Amino acid sequence: MKPDRKITIAIDGPAGAGKSTVAREVARRLDLKYLDTGAMYRAVTLKVIRAQLALDEPGELEALLGEIKIEFGTGEGDGKVFLNGEDVTAEIRGVPVNKRVSEVSSISMVRKKMVALQREIAVRSRGIVVEGRDICSRVLPEADFKFYLEARLSERALRRWKEQVAGGMKVSLGQVQDAIKMRDSIDSQRRDSPLTVAPGVTVIDTTELSLEAVINKVLSIVNVGGTAVEGE
Ligand code: C5P
Repeated sequence: MKPDRKITIAIDGPAGAGKSTVAREVARRLDLKYLDTGAMYRAVTLKVIRAQLALDEPGELEALLGEIKIEFGTGEGDGKVFLNGEDVTAEIRGVPVNKRVSEVSSISMVRKKMVALQREIAVRSRGIVVEGRDICSRVLPEADFKFYLEARLSERALRRWKEQVAGGMKVSLGQVQDAIKMRDSIDSQRRDSPLTVAPGVTVIDTTELSLEAVINKVLSIVNVGGTAVEGE
């Protein structure tokens, strides 16, 4: 049931902690918009890879960022990501993007542009759940509800590995764990808005919890916050 006022929910956390599934489902149940900011950084990374852009060329990067148009599908295309009109949903989850996304995301020029777009989307929405790495600390520090989802590395790797194998990728669990570890390390050590537990967030360790349990935990806190979400 839709809350009777516009609410914003921010969810941060490392890869594989369950953010996307939880955020999407909380948004669906509360009838709010959902924004996957990781998909935006992934789309930029794909464009950088395709253009074979050297990241130490600020002029070229600026031009590339100026040309980029990222859109999310709606209705039947829900969950799809479009880069300048092309459906790149599968390609942005592939190994080449996985390998470069944290490096591209650590560039301030990229972040500035993405943060501005994300805030614009949030402002234009009539209530939204936004998930990423810097949502509570930078993009929407004034969000009504802020969460940080975390889980043990081995469990996060196992979840991602299962997803990737189900999607037809040929990867070993060890490769997935190493890749996640590398991304976590770059994401939490970068200078510009690193992954961190921002002040005032509710931390949920999802290692031993089912998705339904995490979703219910988030919903119960949003309820306690005084919005009309009865009936869930
Ligand atoms: O959420 P996902 O794993 O798809 O994010 C991919 C990458 O995008 C992260 O590892 C991080 O480098 C970057 N990212 C970011 N800030 C966000 C969301 C994602 O830097 N708000």
